[in-house]
Amino acid sequence: MASRSARSRRAPAPGELTAATPCPCGLPAVYGECCGRFHTGEAQAPTAELLMRSRYSAFAAGDTEYLLRTWHPDTRPPELDLDPKTVWEGLEITGTTDGSPFHTTGTVTFRARYRRRGQRGELHERSTFGRIDGAWVYIDGTFVD
Ligand SMILES: [Zn+2]
Repeated sequence: MASRSARSRRAPAPGELTAATPCPCGLPAVYGECCGRFHTGEAQAPTAELLMRSRYSAFAAGDTEYLLRTWHPDTRPPELDLDPKTVWEGLEITGTTDGSPFHTTGTVTFRARYRRRGQRGELHERSTFGRIDGAWVYIDGTFVD
């Protein structure tokens, strides 16, 4: 394998996520020190809220592998096709129940803003989380209005 391919030296494209980019999840941290650690498997989200944030960032980054890995096997789709025309523009957590390092279940209610083909939209959902072998996983969600 070539150690210095053109790909590894190229500059990141505008809008592309790098370790030094502000994290898409909205916390005041760079991606590499926030959700990026969970996406690489270097660390595990300690709370349901941080797992929710890291899944939002995975949607923003197009990381389907992470989304499937953090989805409960009972509710996980066999595969996931993300719409490349959907641009995720912001996440706001509006409420949580349980989901701390001391709980085994939890819910996170959030608003996620997106743009699709010039149209702005918002997803308002209450998601339910559980644990598999200690790791938080997404179980399902219901829309809130
Ligand atoms: Zn983050």
